[in-house]
Amino acid sequence: MRKIKICHLYPDAMNLYGDVGNIIAIKKRCEWRGFECEIIDVKVGDRVNFNDVDIIFMGGGQDRGQMTVAKDLVKKGKQIREAVESDMAVLTICGGYQLFGKYFKTTEGEEIPGIGIFDAFTEASNQRMIGNVLVDCRRTTSHWSNMHKFSLLEKMHASLVGFENHSGKTILGPAAYPLGHVIKGYGNDGKGTLEGCQYRNAFGTYLHGSLLPKNPWFADHLIILGLRHRYGSDFELPELNDDIEIMAHNAARDRVYTARVDHI
Ligand code: GLN
Repeated sequence: MRKIKICHLYPDAMNLYGDVGNIIAIKKRCEWRGFECEIIDVKVGDRVNFNDVDIIFMGGGQDRGQMTVAKDLVKKGKQIREAVESDMAVLTICGGYQLFGKYFKTTEGEEIPGIGIFDAFTEASNQRMIGNVLVDCRRTTSHWSNMHKFSLLEKMHASLVGFENHSGKTILGPAAYPLGHVIKGYGNDGKGTLEGCQYRNAFGTYLHGSLLPKNPWFADHLIILGLRHRYGSDFELPELNDDIEIMAHNAARDRVYTARVDHI
């Protein structure tokens, strides 16, 4: 049976707002297609062979959770960077996203080191950015060679819906490319312009929710990246009936669209 392996980094310390739902979504969408999905939970101190991993996932966390895991993540950083350069897929959410950048500076001025996958840095602010988010990914997915041939992306308007809760403001560097453009929400730096970051097959976003159940086009993108990482670039993914997911996504999208844009 075909399978993918997901390395779930620090599920104990970094799992805010049910971010583990992203792992469940990938696992179910693999199993519904007859693929196996092996999850490897990795805690601080565990050794990992990232050469045998297809997707890394790391959820969000409070500042103290980030401090707990940061030293261990830095120890794993070289291996993860090498795996990203060999097109392993990565999804990081909020606090996890921040630590896949260069650093996260807390309100006390303490700099928590990241592993520099993303050309970005984050500094905590006294502004708590909380609320529903709608992101337009039409321009930022146009160069994705692994995008699905079928129309799931179009049926969901190539948008991402989710929920954000962060004080950190992430600044993208010249080599960084956003995951999308904010239609509603605070986004990376609170200005409501760019959201998330992508580098090769690594993605970071502030969208909790959890993200993937209501954005299955993005879940399938990660799955196909994982399968192609293991079985080669011509591997195709059978379609699923996503009528319910499309309704849920578009209902969330329309709710945000009709809401007043009240912070910019
Ligand atoms: N502690 C980080 C911040 O407040 C990340 C929070 C989170 O993961 N939701 O910005």
